[in-house]
Amino acid sequence: MSNVLVLVDHSAGTVRKTTAELLTIARRLGEPVAVFIGDGVQDALPALGQYGATKVIALTNPDLSQYLVAPKAEALQQVAAKIEPSAILISSNAEGKEIAARLAVKLDSGLITDAVDVQAGPVTTQSVFAGNFTVQSKITHGTPIITVKPNAATPEAAETSPEVEEFDVTISDAAKTARITDSKPREATGRPELTEAAIIVSGGRGTGGDFGPIEAFADSLGAAVGASRAAVDSGWYPHAYQVGQTGKTVSPQLYVAAGISGAIQHRAGMQTSKTIVAVNKDPEAPIFELVDFGVVGDLHKVLPTATEEVTKR
Ligand code: FAD
Repeated sequence: MSNVLVLVDHSAGTVRKTTAELLTIARRLGEPVAVFIGDGVQDALPALGQYGATKVIALTNPDLSQYLVAPKAEALQQVAAKIEPSAILISSNAEGKEIAARLAVKLDSGLITDAVDVQAGPVTTQSVFAGNFTVQSKITHGTPIITVKPNAATPEAAETSPEVEEFDVTISDAAKTARITDSKPREATGRPELTEAAIIVSGGRGTGGDFGPIEAFADSLGAAVGASRAAVDSGWYPHAYQVGQTGKTVSPQLYVAAGISGAIQHRAGMQTSKTIVAVNKDPEAPIFELVDFGVVGDLHKVLPTATEEVTKR
C-alpha cells in the first residue's frame, strides 16, 4: 500500500483534532505516515497511534521552529523525496496553506486547498466562488498536495503502535530569512478554536452589542463563538472571531447564526457547515433560505431559553 504523508498539527506535542481527521482521511488513500516537526513527539505518539499512523517521522532540527514556514517546506520536500508518498495532507490553516504552496512549487506538484472532503483517488470536494458552487477535483500532475479544512471528516480510531524515525534535514540559508523572535500563545478563552470547533454559535448586528446570550449558549454546548462583520465592525467582538469572506471559513457539525441576516459574504464562510440553525426575528431574513432549522424570534429570549434547556440535560 502506498504511503500518505500527514503533517501533524500540534502545540508542544498536544495533537490538534484536525490531525486525527487527516489521519482518518489518509487511511482511505493508503498507509498514513505522520510527519512531526518540533519538540514533544513522545507526547504526541498515543494520539497519532490512536488514529492509525503506521510510522512517525520526527524532525527536530531547531531551524524548523526558529524560522517561519520556509524551512518546513524544505524539510517536507526532503521527507517526500525519501518516502515517495502517493499524497500529502496538511491542515487548512494559514501556516498549513503556506507550507503546502511552497511545497507544491518545490515538488512541481498540483495543489488543492480547502478541501471539505477527500475520497480515494484522491478526489477532493471544495466549495468555491464564495460558496456558490461545490466542485470535485483531482490533481493530475506530481504528488497530490491537499490542504483539508477542519471537520472534513469525523475522526475514527484505528489503533496502531507507530515507530518513531528521526529524520535529519538540511535547511538552506535561503529558507532562513524570517526568524521568530517572540511568540505569544493565543488568549485562552476556555472555548474551542473557531476553525476547529464542532459547534459554533455566532452573533450579528441583531445582538445589539450584547454577546452575553451568544457566549452563554455557546458555553452550554461546549461551542466556539463567532461573529458577523457587522458585529465586528461595530467593535462588539474581535476580528479574530469574524466568520465570512473577509474572516474565517468554518465548517462545523452545527452552526447557529443568531441575529445574522445571511449576507452572501457571511455565507461564504459558513455554508459548508453540516447543520445550520438560525434565530432571527425577521421571517423574511435571507439566512432562512440556507438553514436546516429556523427559529423566528428575539435572540435575547430564544437563546437564554435554549441555554436553560441544554444546561438541564
Ligand atoms: P444585518 O445584515 O444588519 O442583519 C442583522 C439581522 O439581525 C437581521 O436579519 C435582523 O432581522 C436580525 N435581528 C435584529 N434584532 C434581532 C433580535 N433581537 N433577535 C433576532 N434577530 C434580530 N460579513 C460577514 O459577516 N463576514 C465577512 O467576512 C464579510 N466580508 C465582507 C466583505 C466585503 C467585500 C463586503 C462588501 C461585505 C462583507 N461582509 C461580511 C458584510 C456583509 O455584506 C453584511 O453586511 C454583514 O454580514 C451583515 O451582518 P449581520 O447579518 O450581523 O447584520
